[in-house]
Amino acid sequence: MPAHNTPVRGDRLWGGVGTKIHAAVNGLGLPVAWALSTHGLRTAVFSKGSEALTRGDDSMPKTAAVFGAGIAGLSAAHEFARLGYVVSVYEADNEAGGFFRSARAPDDRSMPSEYSWHGMGPWYHNLFDLLRQIPFDETGSVYDKGLSRPIDFCLAPDTGRAAFYSGILDLPKMFRMGRWEGVRWAWLLLKTWASDRRSREYYSRLNAAEQWKPVLSDLGWRTWRASFGPWIGSDWTNVSFHQAGQFFRKQLMTKPSHPHKADDEGPAWTHGARDGWLLLRGPSSECWFDKWVWHLKKNGVRFFWGEPLDKLDYDGTAVTAAQLGSGARVQADVYVLATTPFAAADILGRTPALAGQEQLRLFRPLTQGGPHTQVSYRIAFAEKIAWPRERTAVVVADSEFNLTLFAQEQAWAADVALGDGVKSLWTGTACVATVPGRLHGVPLISCTKGQFIEEVMAQLGSCEGLDSLVKEANNGRSWKTVPVVRVEVWPEWFFSPGGIRPRQPKWVTTTDTQPYQPTQATPVPNLVLAGAHTETEADVWSIEGAVESGRRAARVIEPSVKVIPQYKPVWLRVISAVDNACFAVGAPHVLDLFLVGCAIALAGVIALAVWY
Ligand SMILES: Cc1cc2nc3c(=O)[nH]c(=O)nc-3n(C[C@H](O)[C@H](O)[C@H](O)COP(=O)(O)OP(=O)(O)OC[C@H]3O[C@@H](n4cnc5c(N)ncnc54)[C@H](O)[C@@H]3O)c2cc1C
Repeated sequence: MPAHNTPVRGDRLWGGVGTKIHAAVNGLGLPVAWALSTHGLRTAVFSKGSEALTRGDDSMPKTAAVFGAGIAGLSAAHEFARLGYVVSVYEADNEAGGFFRSARAPDDRSMPSEYSWHGMGPWYHNLFDLLRQIPFDETGSVYDKGLSRPIDFCLAPDTGRAAFYSGILDLPKMFRMGRWEGVRWAWLLLKTWASDRRSREYYSRLNAAEQWKPVLSDLGWRTWRASFGPWIGSDWTNVSFHQAGQFFRKQLMTKPSHPHKADDEGPAWTHGARDGWLLLRGPSSECWFDKWVWHLKKNGVRFFWGEPLDKLDYDGTAVTAAQLGSGARVQADVYVLATTPFAAADILGRTPALAGQEQLRLFRPLTQGGPHTQVSYRIAFAEKIAWPRERTAVVVADSEFNLTLFAQEQAWAADVALGDGVKSLWTGTACVATVPGRLHGVPLISCTKGQFIEEVMAQLGSCEGLDSLVKEANNGRSWKTVPVVRVEVWPEWFFSPGGIRPRQPKWVTTTDTQPYQPTQATPVPNLVLAGAHTETEADVWSIEGAVESGRRAARVIEPSVKVIPQYKPVWLRVISAVDNACFAVGAPHVLDLFLVGCAIALAGVIALAVWY
């Protein structure tokens, strides 16, 4: 490993005194206060505005420079810091959390807003393990104190009552399918579970909705596809057959389960397979990222906000330096590229010798489809709206924009402010951007902001399933009669006549993108990749994928880093192994062969019975 250092400029974290002062501790360019507090002085040499220095003593901690303070970058920083690395994080934005962060605008009633929904499935093993390591306060971790209890999921139709999950056998009913339709639906699901290479290499290129369409009624098909976007974090027009299948396998069969202590909300409980998703007990930045950044700083990690990575210098063997947008150069033993894939493609494109390397050359095709659009919104009410269940997540099954929502006060701790004059705060996401809305006849992608808000209200307004839930808990009163204080849209979506676009392009796993996901390891020994867009066992653009990728990135360099694998039962592994052989010779799925075999055997038995 070449010996490098981390001379930096514009250290906003340390401000005033620390801004331009760097210390060389045994050759490492570090701010004085940090070097003192973290590693002690030893043979420290101080200098002002120091330039590149070499690490002369191999006994000194190695350095890691992480680019991007989203969940993946922070996860990598977390692992390197635990192992004693000197870690610096460079983030283009002014805060941490990337696509999962929240904000409050003081001039907008101090209402909390957020980029995304915050659902966490029972198979988010790496995430939960990480949250156990981040202090929430003096009495517990973010895992202990920052997570809600499971939320009840329901599909709310335009006509009729909302259907809640009440067991695997009732799933077809929930999706408005008949019994035999349910069997055909489950058979396709089983085929994705009982395959490995076929699913990853072939099913990942097939649209899930198209695969199920021929075997389902129109009603069953529309209802089933409406659950793809909200669960998989993509939208049914893009979700692959592979993703839809594997997502449900993890949800229904995951192991281990996660124990939770008793608290003010009730007795001890366990979160495991088939259980509802968890939410944070407050806005994500307040409940998680602020605490995580504080914890990392306490453990010596330095943060540089508003410092985008611009270019990586490469000598044909290794990365030799990183150039920031501010003009500063950064040197480290390890470089972690944890930006959005779009930014990574641009950064790598500035160093063609790097961009042409295996794995790294995947970034262009990975981003060729352009940004994905999925917009979160909030509806603030002037009165409290009750719900029949303690925590309820609603998918508005018949909405063109595939709307979701839940009431934040149901998940959040009682002391979390909802905003001035706000008594109930619903948050949701419009998952599908390409289907025309019912009011203006235009898809989200080409709506004005006003049209988008009107569409959301109209699509929610015609959902009888949602209204009947609210009426049930509010003495027959419709939510439509409760005064709305404000409808808010995450401000980083810009609506324009040319189409909606986000401040940072959003990526998502689709039939086009999945085949190009790079691994965290690259052919360049001191460059690793992190991000929910890289290849993970979570296998979907999600916070579990982001945490897993950060851990995997660190593990490329330090094999002791723990990564918790996803569970697949032995019987499915065995069938999948047999199907791998079928796939390799171009044969149909092993389950289809089995079915045909059974049919032939049955026909033989019947023929024999008739004959004799
Ligand atoms: C509407 C919506 C709903 C969602 N719902 C869920 C959900 O319910 N459950 C779930 O698990 N996931 C959900 N997600 C997905 C989840 O938010 C993402 O998968 C995850 O946050 C990705 O994290 P990341 O660290 O890989 O990437 P990012 O969050 O994209 O982080 C990349 C970071 O790099 C920074 N950066 C960019 N360019 C540069 C540069 N040049 N130099 C330095 N830094 C740079 C960015 O500012 C950002 O902070 C949702 C996402 C959205 C948008």
